[in-house]
Amino acid sequence: MTTHANSETGWPQKPHDGCSFLSLKAAITQKGAVLLGKYVACDAFDESKPLRVITHAHADHMIGLQQSLRTCEKVLMTKATKDLINVMRGPLFLMGGSVETLDYGKTLRYEEESVTFFHADHILGAAQALVEDAEGTRIVYTGDFRVDGTPVLDADILVMEATYGSPACKRPFNKNVNNLLVSLVEEGLKHGTVYVFGYHGKIQEVMQILHKAGIKASFIVPERVFHVSKVCEQHGMRIGRLTLSEEREAEEQLKKNSPCIAFYHMNSRSKIGQGSFRIYVSGWEFNSPCRQIADKEYVIALSDHSDYDGLIQYVRQSKPKLVITDNYRIGYADKLAATIRKLFGISATALPKK
Ligand SMILES: [Zn+2]
Repeated sequence: MTTHANSETGWPQKPHDGCSFLSLKAAITQKGAVLLGKYVACDAFDESKPLRVITHAHADHMIGLQQSLRTCEKVLMTKATKDLINVMRGPLFLMGGSVETLDYGKTLRYEEESVTFFHADHILGAAQALVEDAEGTRIVYTGDFRVDGTPVLDADILVMEATYGSPACKRPFNKNVNNLLVSLVEEGLKHGTVYVFGYHGKIQEVMQILHKAGIKASFIVPERVFHVSKVCEQHGMRIGRLTLSEEREAEEQLKKNSPCIAFYHMNSRSKIGQGSFRIYVSGWEFNSPCRQIADKEYVIALSDHSDYDGLIQYVRQSKPKLVITDNYRIGYADKLAATIRKLFGISATALPKK
């Protein structure tokens, strides 16, 4: 078979050839564990691997963490991720195992392989994991990421998230969303309390945007959001002063529908702030950066994942020989793998097979 340069990537390759030995070095199991090299399982428990990596503190990346704490030799995460898990799950949760924190750029050696963390722009503490084996194969797992603030790692094997892996998932308006969010909140404050609903990490990003824009209204938060926010602050985010929703001053403001901003987890949206001005922060919006869904109810397209173009950009710059797209977590793994095969002429598979 002749070797040729692919027009898209420019690097020489034998399409769909020579990858079978590589495909033994990484996989995603039916239980969602991302296996890198001989020793590492990321983001879900796997009984065959002594090292467990938590790329970040979202629930779908902490699968089987209790089992890992009980049985793995080491559970690796960044310091910020550890601090977030401590406030989300309680300080005793991680005590049961051998947790080791690893800074970005730092390497842990294990037998003949090594694992290194790199920053991923997603939520506080998020990391990409690079495993290098005895043959020098570079096996990269991106975890969840937004391409703009994330260093692209050269990879032989690239395991990547596929949340917005369909060509339909493009957000051409990324840059304008912050300003729109600020204007919408300002508009809402004219009516009284503005409720913002989002997931952990995203909520704090919204606080940071509003604080930076000089919004003066007070930020009211329930206890869990308060503790997560304090961790974000300890790790360098600037989010402004927070008042606990249980405090009398806050209770009164909410009761009177005074102009303040109340931040709640997305799961509270059916119970809290009915009839008030409400904003949901979600990545699943592609047609418009801001959509009104009911009277005084809006969805803002602020995402902590790359859109389709961002995912493709990562592959282009990383120059892998083999790509595995995450078909366990929500997204378009099959579509993304098919597009990568077509665009770059390299092997790409969605795993686990469903
Ligand atoms: Zn995530």
